[in-house]
Amino acid sequence: MTMTEKSKEEIVTLSICIAFVLAVAPFAVIRALNNEWTIAIFDAVLCITMLLLGMYIHFTKRIDIARVVFSLIILSAVMTTIYLKGRDQILWAYPALISLFYVVSPKTALKLTAAYLFILIPIVYPTMNIFQLISFSITLFITIFFCYIFAKQSLKQQDKLVSISLTDPLTNIGNRRALEYKLDEIRNIHKISDINSCLIILDIDRFKSINDTYGHQVGDNILIQLTKIISKRIRNSDGLYRYGGEEFVIVMPYTELRHAQIVAEQIRELVENNHIADLNVTISLGVAELINKESSKDWVKRADDALYKAKNSGRNICFLADHKKVG
Ligand code: GH3
Ligand code: MG
Ligand code: MG
Repeated sequence: MTMTEKSKEEIVTLSICIAFVLAVAPFAVIRALNNEWTIAIFDAVLCITMLLLGMYIHFTKRIDIARVVFSLIILSAVMTTIYLKGRDQILWAYPALISLFYVVSPKTALKLTAAYLFILIPIVYPTMNIFQLISFSITLFITIFFCYIFAKQSLKQQDKLVSISLTDPLTNIGNRRALEYKLDEIRNIHKISDINSCLIILDIDRFKSINDTYGHQVGDNILIQLTKIISKRIRNSDGLYRYGGEEFVIVMPYTELRHAQIVAEQIRELVENNHIADLNVTISLGVAELINKESSKDWVKRADDALYKAKNSGRNICFLADHKKVG
């Protein structure tokens, strides 16, 4: 996602701001026409505040603060309307509370709702008989309960979908899309701080002939074992991704080229000595350090060129991006 694109959360919060203005503005006009100036001004102030909040989100993209402010505006707006215009306005409590579940996390929405009811019920209590109060409380409680369950479920499904879309099903490591996000993240860190980051691209040697000789299941098992061997060797801050077929990428933030070079050589040796599936499985590797202002594509391309060089030099070798042989 580029800096100019809007996130899903931004779009939802902005849409709710706009919907709020569209819903409340006509009431401001109607109240003004009826000479009900207190409520007319109150509605107008709410619309203007929402517009300002929408502009703040649009220009700063800082939705965390905006979300809480939004929730507080919504709740105090409904509360003040009920206070000024009487209990008929209580119907607004339903859409107001539902909207919270679209804006903040289900837990925060639940807490805000509880605090809200704690203040609201004493306000409306004197204007209602006991049956009205009970039906108001129960219907609101049921509405909130379903909103909470729905919001929780949708969050869980969303997390699951994100995880599926970023994971390689065979090896259970990050896929190419996850790699692209990681590389963008590292490039963004480089823009604001002076760190070294490296990338290793590796490819199993003569994998096609292993598949052809021993079958795809053996081939799949080799891919799984290989990722386990590499994952054990790299640091927690490093990332291993399946770039495609039998090609993998190790991303190493906060790592100088000479250290990445040592790790690459160690991984090459580890794989060679491991005799995965009782076969002589070897890998070739290319290492590149991120150069300032270089695109992710160019960074991977330089590592890939080094890998190509390693393949052409007889395989089971590691090369640096400037075509120097390692080890
Ligand atoms: P090189 O040393 O030049 O890399 O030769 P290679 O045979 O490894 O390269 P090539 O690109 O010709 O073949 C890659 C093979 O990887 C072909 C394909 O059958 C195999 N492959 C790709 N993805 C998978 C997978 O998910 N499972 C299995 N078993 N094989 C795969
Ligand atoms: Mg290969
Ligand atoms: Mg390949």
